[in-house]
Amino acid sequence: MSSIEYNLREIRNKIEMAARKSNRSSRDITLVVVTKTVKVEEIKKALDMGVTNIGENRIQEALEKYRALKDYNVKWHMIGHLQSNKAKYAAKFIELIHSLDRISLAKELNKRAAKLNRIMDVLIQVNIAKDENKFGLMPEEVEDFMLYVADEYENLKIKGLMTIVPYVEDPEEVRPYFRQMNRMFQKYKDYGFKDIEMKHLSMGMTNDFEVAVEEGANMVRIGSGIFGPRV
Ligand SMILES: *Cc1c(COP(=O)(O)O)cnc(C)c1O
Repeated sequence: MSSIEYNLREIRNKIEMAARKSNRSSRDITLVVVTKTVKVEEIKKALDMGVTNIGENRIQEALEKYRALKDYNVKWHMIGHLQSNKAKYAAKFIELIHSLDRISLAKELNKRAAKLNRIMDVLIQVNIAKDENKFGLMPEEVEDFMLYVADEYENLKIKGLMTIVPYVEDPEEVRPYFRQMNRMFQKYKDYGFKDIEMKHLSMGMTNDFEVAVEEGANMVRIGSGIFGPRV
Protein backbone atom coordinates (compact mmCIF):
# COMPACT_ATOMS: atom_id res chain seq x y z
CA MET A 1 0.00 0.00 0.00
CA SER A 2 1.39 3.43 -0.91
CA SER A 3 1.59 6.10 1.74
CA ILE A 4 -1.13 8.05 -0.03
CA GLU A 5 -3.47 5.08 0.27
CA TYR A 6 -2.53 4.59 3.88
CA ASN A 7 -2.96 8.25 4.78
CA LEU A 8 -6.27 8.49 2.99
CA ARG A 9 -7.62 5.53 4.94
CA GLU A 10 -6.47 7.05 8.19
CA ILE A 11 -8.07 10.40 7.37
CA ARG A 12 -11.34 8.74 6.39
CA ASN A 13 -11.38 6.80 9.67
CA LYS A 14 -10.74 9.94 11.66
CA ILE A 15 -13.51 11.76 9.81
CA GLU A 16 -15.85 8.88 10.62
CA MET A 17 -15.00 9.01 14.31
CA ALA A 18 -15.31 12.79 14.52
CA ALA A 19 -18.62 12.65 12.64
CA ARG A 20 -20.00 10.13 15.12
CA LYS A 21 -19.15 12.45 17.98
CA SER A 22 -21.51 14.97 16.43
CA ASN A 23 -24.17 12.33 15.68
CA ARG A 24 -23.47 12.14 11.99
CA SER A 25 -21.75 9.68 9.70
CA SER A 26 -18.86 10.20 7.34
CA ARG A 27 -21.40 10.10 4.50
CA ASP A 28 -22.50 13.54 5.66
CA ILE A 29 -18.97 14.93 5.33
CA THR A 30 -17.35 15.81 2.00
CA LEU A 31 -13.60 15.35 1.88
CA VAL A 32 -11.97 17.84 -0.47
CA VAL A 33 -8.49 16.56 -1.22
CA VAL A 34 -6.13 19.52 -1.55
CA THR A 35 -3.56 18.96 -4.30
CA LYS A 36 -1.65 22.24 -4.49
CA THR A 37 2.00 21.51 -5.43
CA VAL A 38 1.14 17.80 -5.82
CA LYS A 39 2.03 16.14 -9.14
CA VAL A 40 -0.62 14.66 -11.42
CA GLU A 41 0.72 11.12 -10.97
CA GLU A 42 0.26 11.39 -7.23
CA ILE A 43 -3.22 12.87 -7.60
CA LYS A 44 -4.18 9.85 -9.73
CA LYS A 45 -3.41 7.56 -6.79
CA ALA A 46 -5.98 9.40 -4.72
CA LEU A 47 -8.50 9.39 -7.58
CA ASP A 48 -8.03 5.64 -7.92
CA MET A 49 -9.14 5.34 -4.30
CA GLY A 50 -12.47 6.93 -5.01
CA VAL A 51 -11.63 10.57 -4.34
CA THR A 52 -13.79 12.87 -6.46
CA ASN A 53 -13.42 16.29 -4.87
CA ILE A 54 -10.15 18.08 -5.52
CA GLY A 55 -9.17 21.51 -4.17
CA GLU A 56 -6.55 23.89 -5.52
CA ASN A 57 -5.64 27.39 -4.39
CA ARG A 58 -4.08 28.72 -7.58
CA ILE A 59 -6.25 28.85 -10.65
CA GLN A 60 -3.46 28.41 -13.21
CA GLU A 61 -2.21 25.25 -11.51
CA ALA A 62 -5.79 24.00 -11.20
CA LEU A 63 -6.42 24.56 -14.91
CA GLU A 64 -3.32 22.60 -15.92
CA LYS A 65 -4.34 19.69 -13.72
CA TYR A 66 -7.92 19.85 -14.93
CA ARG A 67 -6.64 19.42 -18.48
CA ALA A 68 -4.35 16.56 -17.49
CA LEU A 69 -7.13 14.75 -15.62
CA LYS A 70 -9.98 15.18 -18.10
CA ASP A 71 -10.56 11.43 -18.23
CA TYR A 72 -11.29 11.25 -14.52
CA ASN A 73 -14.48 12.09 -12.72
CA VAL A 74 -13.32 15.11 -10.70
CA LYS A 75 -15.19 17.97 -9.08
CA TRP A 76 -12.84 20.94 -8.90
CA HIS A 77 -12.90 23.28 -5.93
CA MET A 78 -11.22 26.68 -5.81
CA ILE A 79 -10.20 27.15 -2.19
CA GLY A 80 -7.69 30.01 -2.39
CA HIS A 81 -7.85 33.74 -2.92
CA LEU A 82 -9.03 34.44 -6.46
CA GLN A 83 -8.06 37.56 -8.38
CA SER A 84 -10.97 39.03 -10.29
CA ASN A 85 -9.05 38.91 -13.58
CA LYS A 86 -8.80 35.12 -13.19
CA ALA A 87 -12.55 34.64 -12.78
CA LYS A 88 -12.85 33.76 -16.46
CA TYR A 89 -10.72 30.64 -15.96
CA ALA A 90 -12.60 29.59 -12.84
CA ALA A 91 -15.95 29.88 -14.60
CA LYS A 92 -14.84 27.24 -17.12
CA PHE A 93 -14.44 24.30 -14.81
CA ILE A 94 -14.68 25.06 -11.11
CA GLU A 95 -17.73 23.49 -9.44
CA LEU A 96 -17.47 25.28 -6.12
CA ILE A 97 -15.65 28.49 -5.21
CA HIS A 98 -14.92 28.49 -1.47
CA SER A 99 -13.39 31.94 -1.34
CA LEU A 100 -15.93 34.56 -2.37
CA ASP A 101 -14.97 37.54 -0.21
CA ARG A 102 -15.75 40.74 -2.10
CA ILE A 103 -18.24 42.32 -4.47
CA SER A 104 -15.72 42.97 -7.26
CA LEU A 105 -15.06 39.23 -7.49
CA ALA A 106 -18.77 38.37 -7.35
CA LYS A 107 -19.42 40.78 -10.19
CA GLU A 108 -16.72 39.32 -12.40
CA LEU A 109 -17.60 35.69 -11.65
CA ASN A 110 -21.24 36.43 -12.38
CA LYS A 111 -20.36 38.02 -15.69
CA ARG A 112 -18.18 35.09 -16.74
CA ALA A 113 -20.70 32.48 -15.60
CA ALA A 114 -23.46 34.28 -17.50
CA LYS A 115 -21.36 34.23 -20.67
CA LEU A 116 -21.05 30.47 -20.35
CA ASN A 117 -24.71 30.16 -19.50
CA ARG A 118 -24.01 28.45 -16.19
CA ILE A 119 -24.71 28.91 -12.50
CA MET A 120 -21.60 29.07 -10.30
CA ASP A 121 -21.87 27.72 -6.77
CA VAL A 122 -20.00 29.79 -4.21
CA LEU A 123 -19.23 29.79 -0.50
CA ILE A 124 -18.72 32.97 1.44
CA GLN A 125 -15.30 33.13 3.07
CA VAL A 126 -15.56 34.38 6.65
CA ASN A 127 -12.60 35.72 8.62
CA ILE A 128 -13.96 34.38 11.85
CA ALA A 129 -10.78 35.07 13.85
CA LYS A 130 -10.64 38.65 12.49
CA ASP A 131 -7.06 37.96 11.53
CA GLU A 132 -5.56 40.95 9.70
CA ASN A 133 -3.42 38.68 7.54
CA LYS A 134 -6.33 36.62 6.25
CA PHE A 135 -8.88 37.13 3.54
CA GLY A 136 -12.59 36.87 4.18
CA LEU A 137 -15.50 38.96 5.36
CA MET A 138 -15.86 40.00 8.95
CA PRO A 139 -18.67 38.00 10.57
CA GLU A 140 -20.84 41.11 10.94
CA GLU A 141 -20.56 41.84 7.20
CA VAL A 142 -21.72 38.42 6.03
CA GLU A 143 -25.47 38.86 6.05
CA ASP A 144 -25.62 42.08 4.01
CA PHE A 145 -23.03 40.71 1.62
CA MET A 146 -24.99 37.50 1.00
CA LEU A 147 -28.26 39.34 0.50
CA TYR A 148 -26.65 41.71 -1.97
CA VAL A 149 -25.00 38.91 -3.96
CA ALA A 150 -28.18 36.82 -4.02
CA ASP A 151 -30.18 39.78 -5.21
CA GLU A 152 -27.75 41.21 -7.72
CA TYR A 153 -25.97 38.28 -9.36
CA GLU A 154 -28.29 35.80 -11.01
CA ASN A 155 -25.58 33.41 -12.16
CA LEU A 156 -24.11 32.91 -8.70
CA LYS A 157 -25.67 30.62 -6.13
CA ILE A 158 -24.60 30.89 -2.49
CA LYS A 159 -24.24 27.41 -1.05
CA GLY A 160 -22.72 28.03 2.36
CA LEU A 161 -19.78 29.35 4.32
CA MET A 162 -16.06 28.70 4.50
CA THR A 163 -13.34 29.70 6.93
CA ILE A 164 -9.62 29.31 7.50
CA VAL A 165 -8.70 29.57 11.15
CA PRO A 166 -5.22 30.50 12.44
CA TYR A 167 -2.69 27.70 12.61
CA VAL A 168 -2.09 26.65 16.21
CA GLU A 169 -0.31 23.63 17.56
CA ASP A 170 -3.22 22.55 19.72
CA PRO A 171 -6.41 22.57 17.62
CA GLU A 172 -8.51 22.81 20.79
CA GLU A 173 -7.60 26.49 20.78
CA VAL A 174 -9.55 27.06 17.57
CA ARG A 175 -12.62 25.07 18.60
CA PRO A 176 -14.49 28.27 19.59
CA TYR A 177 -14.03 29.66 16.06
CA PHE A 178 -15.51 26.52 14.51
CA ARG A 179 -18.39 26.68 16.97
CA GLN A 180 -19.07 30.32 16.07
CA MET A 181 -19.04 29.42 12.38
CA ASN A 182 -21.53 26.63 12.90
CA ARG A 183 -23.81 28.93 14.87
CA MET A 184 -23.75 31.44 12.02
CA PHE A 185 -24.35 28.67 9.47
CA GLN A 186 -27.35 27.28 11.40
CA LYS A 187 -28.76 30.77 11.88
CA TYR A 188 -28.76 31.54 8.16
CA LYS A 189 -30.11 28.09 7.42
CA ASP A 190 -33.03 28.79 9.75
CA TYR A 191 -33.63 32.23 8.22
CA GLY A 192 -34.09 30.53 4.85
CA PHE A 193 -33.21 33.60 2.78
CA LYS A 194 -34.50 33.46 -0.77
CA ASP A 195 -31.91 32.09 -3.24
CA ILE A 196 -29.40 31.30 -0.49
CA GLU A 197 -28.85 27.67 0.39
CA MET A 198 -26.87 26.90 3.56
CA LYS A 199 -25.67 23.50 2.41
CA HIS A 200 -21.89 23.41 2.90
CA LEU A 201 -19.87 24.44 5.92
CA SER A 202 -16.28 24.21 4.70
CA MET A 203 -13.79 24.23 7.57
CA GLY A 204 -10.97 22.08 8.88
CA MET A 205 -7.54 21.27 7.43
CA THR A 206 -4.95 18.61 8.27
CA ASN A 207 -4.12 20.11 11.64
CA ASP A 208 -7.63 20.70 12.90
CA PHE A 209 -10.21 18.82 10.83
CA GLU A 210 -11.33 16.50 13.64
CA VAL A 211 -12.24 19.43 15.86
CA ALA A 212 -13.92 21.15 12.89
CA VAL A 213 -16.06 18.09 12.15
CA GLU A 214 -16.98 17.68 15.82
CA GLU A 215 -18.18 21.29 15.67
CA GLY A 216 -20.32 20.80 12.59
CA ALA A 217 -18.14 21.06 9.48
CA ASN A 218 -19.61 19.06 6.61
CA MET A 219 -16.77 19.79 4.18
CA VAL A 220 -13.09 19.50 5.10
CA ARG A 221 -10.06 20.44 3.00
CA ILE A 222 -7.05 18.20 3.53
CA GLY A 223 -3.70 18.23 1.74
CA SER A 224 -0.53 17.48 3.66
CA GLY A 225 -2.25 14.84 5.79
CA ILE A 226 -2.66 12.81 2.60
CA PHE A 227 0.32 13.72 0.41
CA GLY A 228 2.87 14.59 3.09
CA PRO A 229 4.42 17.99 3.82
CA ARG A 230 4.61 20.41 0.91
CA VAL A 231 8.05 21.43 -0.27
C1 LIG B 1 -3.54 24.38 1.62
C2 LIG B 1 -4.93 24.58 2.05
C3 LIG B 1 -5.63 23.58 2.73
C4 LIG B 1 -5.02 22.24 3.12
O1 LIG B 1 -4.03 22.42 4.08
P1 LIG B 1 -3.32 21.16 4.78
O2 LIG B 1 -2.85 21.72 6.07
O3 LIG B 1 -2.23 20.75 3.87
O4 LIG B 1 -4.35 20.12 4.95
C5 LIG B 1 -6.95 23.83 3.07
N1 LIG B 1 -7.54 24.99 2.77
C6 LIG B 1 -6.91 25.98 2.13
C7 LIG B 1 -7.63 27.24 1.82
C8 LIG B 1 -5.58 25.81 1.75
O5 LIG B 1 -4.95 26.80 1.09
